[in-house]
Amino acid sequence: MSAKNIDELIALCKRRGFIFQSSEIYGGTQGLYDYGPLGVELKNNIKNSWWKSTVYERDDVEGLDAAILTKQSVLKHSGHEDTFSDPLVDCKSCGERFRADQVPDYCKKEDLTEPRQFNLMFKTNVGPVDDGSSFAYLRPETAQQIFTNFKNVVDSTARNIPFGIAQIGKAFRNEITLKSFIFRVREFEQMELEFFVVPGTDEDWHKEWVESRLAWWENQGVSRESLELYDVPSDELAHYSKATVDIMYKFPHGVEELEGIANRTDFDLGSHSKDQKDLNIKSSVSENKESNAKLALKDPDNNWVVPFVIEPSAGVDRAVLAILNEAYNIEKIDDKERVVLKLKPHLSPIKAAVIPLKKNDEKIVSRAKNIKNKLQALGMGRVLFENSGNIGKNYRRHDEIGTPICITIDFDTLEDGTVTVRDRDTMHQKRVKESELEETFKKLF
Ligand code: ATP
Repeated sequence: MSAKNIDELIALCKRRGFIFQSSEIYGGTQGLYDYGPLGVELKNNIKNSWWKSTVYERDDVEGLDAAILTKQSVLKHSGHEDTFSDPLVDCKSCGERFRADQVPDYCKKEDLTEPRQFNLMFKTNVGPVDDGSSFAYLRPETAQQIFTNFKNVVDSTARNIPFGIAQIGKAFRNEITLKSFIFRVREFEQMELEFFVVPGTDEDWHKEWVESRLAWWENQGVSRESLELYDVPSDELAHYSKATVDIMYKFPHGVEELEGIANRTDFDLGSHSKDQKDLNIKSSVSENKESNAKLALKDPDNNWVVPFVIEPSAGVDRAVLAILNEAYNIEKIDDKERVVLKLKPHLSPIKAAVIPLKKNDEKIVSRAKNIKNKLQALGMGRVLFENSGNIGKNYRRHDEIGTPICITIDFDTLEDGTVTVRDRDTMHQKRVKESELEETFKKLF
């Protein structure tokens, strides 16, 4: 089951501390959100899961963490200065401005102006003079600095194609039509992989990455029935793309893009390279007189080859929204309702709550703290020592935030060394020996 509407999720996120409107105490800023105590854990867990499967569990991917402020030349040669824009229309009746493909139903066609192009990149001043002569862009995607670092990574790791470079980080777009909570925002995070391959093998790699990314989403608890593949038609493809498959998810507001997997050909490395005419570049690139690096490799016959690129690009914020929506359940128990987030344990913000039954009993409290510290030391993520509220409230809260188990310490613990372990999904409780607790806990992951 998933949430009936986005408002249920927004309310849960605010109530329990996942996501807040940014600058809320000053009235908020549109399109900007802050991740609270639980949101930061969920987000980190999603990013770690992506990094683990993309970098650690493969032997052909390296990581990168490049600067966010980006030199103008990079985004000139990538094509962003000229083409990273949306067509905007104004509605003469309501006075609002919309992306041309996202005009709401209440605006009449005859009230709309002709579309005008509007660049989505944010600019900021760099250095001591603020006269517009020295500026940088806040990157609109993480991909470009992967391309500019291609030679650095190859030279420092001795990689040859096929191999990839992965990066997770912030991206900024001055979006005009903001939508559905954290779905389309102005500051967001991306998890991007640029996978460099031998030209001619690109179509097979593209298929393989679509399958591999689908499998990853399923491992995060997003069911296959909630996902659709959209083969982007050629007249909708971005200028650099030979083929793009979008992974679409049934968000509460409709079926929309969760991740895009593009075959970017040799456009990017070709565009950022020097000596372009020597390189047999297949895509159409603009002349580059500024780059000082040849972004190509020698093939076995000693000819220069510009690798093709397959790019799986997923948004972290859209991942948070999809994963929360999938995990959200309301269960009827007798005549009461229980909200429970059935998150996969590796994504749960809190891995276990350790609850002393009597909050003012020194022996029980210190035993509980000791157990919390032992479980925390296993390094599986945050374990919470829960020392407020009654046990019923504790269970309700931990169901709502997706904590897989609650461990209760009571007088019997002092007598016979057993604790109560309550399972989030079944609500089943069992007594477990303290000496077996670590094993029970580890088995969850
Ligand atoms: P859309 O048209 O839906 O805004 P896009 O096609 O422009 O998205 P891409 O440029 O392909 O998006 O970016 C890759 C991924 O980054 C998207 O699949 C999405 O998950 C995420 N993303 C892009 N723009 C935003 C945004 N404004 N807010 C949140 N996530 C975003």
